[in-house]
Formats: sequence, C-alpha cells, structure tokens
Amino acid sequence: MNAASARLLIVGPQGSGKGTQGVRIAEALGIPVVSTGDIFRANIKGGTELGQQVTAILDRGDLVPDELTGDIVRDRLSQEDAAGGFILDGYPRNTAQVGHLEEFLASRGEALDAVILLDVPREESIERLTLRAQEQGRSDDTEEAIAHRLDIYEKETAPILAVYGDRGIVDRIDGVGSLDEITERITAALRARGLTLAA
Ligand code: ADP
Repeated sequence: MNAASARLLIVGPQGSGKGTQGVRIAEALGIPVVSTGDIFRANIKGGTELGQQVTAILDRGDLVPDELTGDIVRDRLSQEDAAGGFILDGYPRNTAQVGHLEEFLASRGEALDAVILLDVPREESIERLTLRAQEQGRSDDTEEAIAHRLDIYEKETAPILAVYGDRGIVDRIDGVGSLDEITERITAALRARGLTLAA
C-alpha cells in the first residue's frame, strides 16, 4: 500500500487534538482532511442555507441529522483531491454513519486503511476545551455544550471503535504529550501499517 491511497479516520473525544493532528498527518501524507465540523462552521460563517440549517444544532452540541451529514461527506469525498486518499475527522460519529460510509466506500471498491484513536481522559478534555473557549470563543465551547458533546462521544461515537476494532484497523494512540510527540506516535503507527511517504 503506498501513501497516496491512505484512507484514514481520526477519532477522539472533544479536546483530544484530533483536528490539529489530522492536519499534520494529512500534510505528511499529501492527502486532504475532511472535517465535518469545519465544513459546518464554514457554512455557518458564510451564511449559506446549510449553515442556517445547522447553526442551532451546533450551538447545542447536538449531532446534525445523519442523512444531511452523509450527503455532505459523500459530496466531499467525490471531489478529485480525495480520490487518492483522505483523512476523515468527525465522521462517522455513530454506528449508523459507519454503515453509510461503508456502503459508499464499498460502492467505489474502497475501505478505510486505519483508524487512529486519540486517547485522552475526560478531565484532560474538559481542561483543554475550557482553555480553547477562552482563546477561540467557539460558540459550542460553553460548559453545557462541552459536557453534552462529551456525553454523545461516549455513548454514540466510542461504540464505532468496536466495528473497526474487529477489523483490526484501530491504532490507539496516547493523546497526552507534546504535539510533536503525538504526531510521531501516529506516524509510527501508520508506518507499521506501511502507510507513509518514503522518507
Ligand atoms: P468537536 O469534536 O469538538 O465536537 P467538531 O468540529 O468535530 O468538534 O464538531 C462540531 C459539531 O459539528 C458537532 O458538535 C456536531 O454538531 C457537528 N458535527 C460534526 N460532525 C458531525 C457528524 N459526523 N454528524 C453529525 N454532526 C456532526
């Protein structure tokens, strides 16, 4: 398997650093990041119809309906730059979405190569998110929305790991450490799967 065909998913609780690490890994492998949260936020900022549809949902920390989210991801993955690989951040987020993604990838003769799980304890997540709230002022980083999003992560998102775990493609990475250390842990895990650029 060469790097150009890496199809990856990065999963972790809110505040695990998956957005930051996703960008770093994507750059290293020359593949695009497909972040559903970023897509929604860009639409909210741009005042699009989609943005208007989802703004209250994001502020509450609820999930956008599966069908809508699935359509957006399929559209994005159908763009040319994702033909040779991609890193998904924030999708799939529940087992129904796993089913939708699997169906879509299978229709193209594709499958995920690896699932990177960034492991961070809940207390650490809350601490980091509280800091982010002060620095960035994201409208869903209120104490209530943070707790709600973490609950959804534990109840709905964590179970998707069982599906991919059965397939033997989950790499559990310790998400506590410096940014560079964590990037190195991830690239080492991907390298072990043969997923890396020749140095
Ligand atoms: P975080 O991981 O900090 O919650 P994200 O940027 O991944 O941040 O997501 C922000 C919000 O966007 C979520 O709380 C949810 O409202 C919406 N969202 C993102 N991805 C999905 C998804 N796969 N399904 C439904 N809603 C999503």
